[in-house]
Amino acid sequence: MPQYEIHVLCSECGAEHPMRVRLHLDDGPAEKRSIGETYKGKTQPPQLLAIGGHKTLCLKTGRMFVQEDDEHIFLVPR
Ligand SMILES: [Zn+2]
Repeated sequence: MPQYEIHVLCSECGAEHPMRVRLHLDDGPAEKRSIGETYKGKTQPPQLLAIGGHKTLCLKTGRMFVQEDDEHIFLVPR
């Protein structure tokens, strides 16, 4: 089963940061793609719903942030 890291566009500094979460997805994308694009019109798998609202550390400012926009949350195949 393909394994993915989650990268999140930062609302603090505008860069992308890893959420430090790894997921296994049966129907995930072959290349890096946003969650919004990957599951447009489809139900997201429970592994993704489980990380909704998770905080990510901004490596630049040291602050935690939550990215709510699925277009700004990316699945990155490992
Ligand atoms: Zn940041």
